[in-house]
This record gives sequence, structure tokens and C-alpha cells, in this order.
Amino acid sequence: MRLRVADPRGPSRGCTACCCRSGVYVSLAERERILAHAAAVQRCMDAGQVRDPAQWFERRVYRDPDFEGGRCVGTRVMGAACVFLNGRGLCTLQLASARSGTPQLKPFYCRIFPLTLAGGVVVYHPFCRGRAPCCTFGRRGAALALEACRPEFEEVLGAGGYRALVELARRRPGNREYRDREAPRTRPVELR
Ligand code: SF4
Repeated sequence: MRLRVADPRGPSRGCTACCCRSGVYVSLAERERILAHAAAVQRCMDAGQVRDPAQWFERRVYRDPDFEGGRCVGTRVMGAACVFLNGRGLCTLQLASARSGTPQLKPFYCRIFPLTLAGGVVVYHPFCRGRAPCCTFGRRGAALALEACRPEFEEVLGAGGYRALVELARRRPGNREYRDREAPRTRPVELR
């Protein structure tokens, strides 16, 4: 499996933010964390975004064991995109998180995209199977998906889990793309 990445010559390096058009489901703990930092999020919003936190999430709560606490809620879609997507195609939760003193606000499933969980199993998101205009999976692509998505795999599996996954890919019979590659090295951990 390979990943055809966004065209680096385009705006935002070719990203069309199409994966943000339908919003995302978040755990109730994530929703509370975002609402607790509403002021930081609002500071990152542009004039076209909905600033009222009461309008950021759908009311309906779903049961789903793939979420922390077993329940989730959707972000609202406004103007054909997630309420947190700004006019430049950037996530205001990610922008707010980049500011010092603000915890991680970008939802887990956005951080691991184009991976997702299905019944506790890490899978490539079906959205990326050959139909997205920018990042998409397919037989032809600039990078091996397992390597291109290393940060996302490590977010879900940890560095050790990712190394084990690559080792499995290398040993799999007929998997020529991985057979001759070196096992990934452990990255140095930044201490705070
Ligand atoms: S929370 Fe951010 S990254 Fe996730 S869908 Fe909304 S705008 Fe996109």
C-alpha cells in the first residue's frame, strides 16, 4: 500500500482539507477539554467562523467502544465544513494547541487520520482509498503508507508498537516493498 501525498506546490502544500468537510466525532472528555479552552480556540478563529461554543457540537451522543469512555459526539458542520476549520483550511483546535500553555485540543481521530480504529483495530481510513483529491492510498504513490503515516501509527501504537508492525510487514511473505528495508530506529524522546 502506498500513499499519494498532497501536491507540495499547491496552497497549504496541496491539502484541500476535504477530510474536514464532514466534521469528526470526539469523546465526551475531548469535548469538555475543548469547551474548557473555548477562549483560546476563539482567539484562533477568523471572522467567518462560529464563535459561540454552544454551537460547536451536535446534541446527540452515541455509544461507541472505539472512544475513550465509550461515548462520542460530533462536531457541527457549518458551511460544508467542520465548525473548527478556518477560511485558510486550517484547524483552529490545532492552532490553539500550538500556543504555549494550551493542552492538546485536536481530536484523537483527527490526529491519527488517515488511520482510524474499527472495533479496536487500526485500519487505513476508507475515505482515503483512491477518491480524495489530495492524500489518498493506492498502488502508485510517492511513499509507502506504513512509512508516510509513521507519526500517526506511533500516536496509536506507540514507538514500540510501530516498530513491531514494520517488522511484521518485513517478514510477511511476498511483501517485497518492505523486505529489504531497515527496521525503524527509535526517535529520541524530547524531555520537558
Ligand atoms: S477538528 Fe480540526 S482537524 Fe478535525 S475535522 Fe475539525 S477542522 Fe478538521
